Amino acid sequence: MTSRIRLLEPHLINQIAAGEVIERPFSAIKELVENSIDAGATQIDVIVRDGGKSYISVSDNGCGMTEEELQLAVERHATSKLKDSNLFQISTLGFRGEALPSIGSVSRLHITSLYEGAQDAWTFSIEGGTKSPLKPAQRLSGTLIEVRDLFYATPARLKFLRATTTELQAIRESLDRLAMAHPQVGLSLKDDQRVIFNYRAQKNLMDRLQEIMGGEFMENSIPLDLERDGYVVKGYVSLPTYHRATANHQYLFVNQRPVKDRVLMGVIKAAYQDVLARDRHPLVALFLTLPPEAVDMNVHPAKTEVRFQDVQKVRSLMISAIRHGIHGESQRASSHTAQVAIAALRPPMLPLNQGKLHLAASHRPAFTPPSQSLVAPFEVPVYSHLSENESTYEETPTPQIQYGPLGQARAQLHSTYIISETPSGIVIVDQHAAHERLVYESLKAARMTQNVPRQMLLIPEVVELKEADCARLLTLKNDLGACGLGIEALGDQSLLVREIPAALGEINPKSLLQDLADELSELGEALSLQDRLDAVCSSMACHGSVRAGRRMQIEEMNALLRQMESTAYSAQCNHGRPTYVELKLSDVEKLFGRK
Ligand code: ADP
Ligand code: MG
Repeated sequence: MTSRIRLLEPHLINQIAAGEVIERPFSAIKELVENSIDAGATQIDVIVRDGGKSYISVSDNGCGMTEEELQLAVERHATSKLKDSNLFQISTLGFRGEALPSIGSVSRLHITSLYEGAQDAWTFSIEGGTKSPLKPAQRLSGTLIEVRDLFYATPARLKFLRATTTELQAIRESLDRLAMAHPQVGLSLKDDQRVIFNYRAQKNLMDRLQEIMGGEFMENSIPLDLERDGYVVKGYVSLPTYHRATANHQYLFVNQRPVKDRVLMGVIKAAYQDVLARDRHPLVALFLTLPPEAVDMNVHPAKTEVRFQDVQKVRSLMISAIRHGIHGESQRASSHTAQVAIAALRPPMLPLNQGKLHLAASHRPAFTPPSQSLVAPFEVPVYSHLSENESTYEETPTPQIQYGPLGQARAQLHSTYIISETPSGIVIVDQHAAHERLVYESLKAARMTQNVPRQMLLIPEVVELKEADCARLLTLKNDLGACGLGIEALGDQSLLVREIPAALGEINPKSLLQDLADELSELGEALSLQDRLDAVCSSMACHGSVRAGRRMQIEEMNALLRQMESTAYSAQCNHGRPTYVELKLSDVEKLFGRK
């Protein structure tokens, strides 16, 4: 009897590999562009048709291939890149020798290349795995690779391709990532004749990021640069008040390779945990560089996953870098917030002249004051003593008090917003959001010194919760105690609350405990104890901040502003909402057509 086990033909092996390496047109393009980068190209031009489904070409000015190399390149596991056959010393983007044979097995692949310094170029093709003989060709430099009818040889895969626009979007995305990692390379993408982007070669990362992420990101982000024992993290992360609903704008790189790595994504989440709502995501472009042997790139054929030798070291480096960055800028609200506010304030879009005419001709004569009963009783503003007219105000010598960057409080509106004046603009503070952050930071600080002012409840409160929730809170009993929250077990499904942090004022212990239990269950074990306790303080601050809707005196408002100026992270509440917006006078002037 003949054996039923047989070796697969090389052609089939390649198609199987193609299933992993070349998932969609964007993955073929990614592999080809990576090859060009590995070949030392300084200019790479990509052209696609039908979202890469019918045609892809990648042209570079790299080192090219000799006649022999050209033929070898499409052989499986043929690579020029694995120095000393060491999988843990990888300094190139490719190393598996799989991309070209895979692409050649499922499409019509044509390669034309001129080896650096050689006289003649050569061309070679492979269609559905069948090779044709090498021929002389014309080419000025580098390599041109053309891929027609991707997956024509594997109809099952063809069916999974998406709409042209979707494929094109994915191509753009993946090329953007490569472009960020290699600013020194010029990279262009055309959809047939239409230029989609043309990134010129840049000397530094910042210029490339500006091109791709846009000026708004650069303006609202914080530069990072931290090194520890040969591990380096560099890049930009957004201010906590500048965030998105998805993590799509998180660009991560390890040793100049774009990666999608769960560990790193988790680290970013943890680093912002303190300053951002859980369903919002910061924008980041972070570049991690570590010794090649400290990271395994060979986790998946697509090479976008990595395995770190020392996850803890990576985690702590990244968290320190990001937190330090955020901390340094923690009192800066994003300019984006102010722009949104200004845009919302802009009058309806009438051409300026027309607007004026309209007012003069019809509105003014027809204007009647609203009936007395509709006007809310107007309290004399507390600041009325300041001045009747501007000139006396200007002549009045500025009081001795020094006002900080958040300016001098002038008024409170709707018992919620503090309006303050700075030399160059107007600041609007959301008193509730600001207060929430202040309570939070004070709780955190007090927790550190084991000295949280607390209030005993006159009658201890019995709170009923699910068994699992009770257990979850009780495992942290001592730590919660250190935060000022005294609880005790009382049966399987209830707890006794004896004391709460004084900063919280009057609160509902049941809803506080329920929120804490939910929070802890959601965070799971992902965070360190410290971080979990911070989350506890954050939840408590949220419960304790009832200041919206409370009238404040000018002195009290100024005190709040000064406290914000001296408190870390005061530009955003615990959920990442801004606590204040600053409108520049120049913008306000524009609103009124003064500039
Ligand atoms: P890998 O990149 O893992 O080595 P590939 O199948 O992608 O495997 O490419 C095989 C080999 O072909 C590469 O090692 C390289 O020597 C050569 N090659 C591919 N593309 C180019 C290019 N654009 N310029 C020069 N050499 C190339
Ligand atoms: Mg390759």
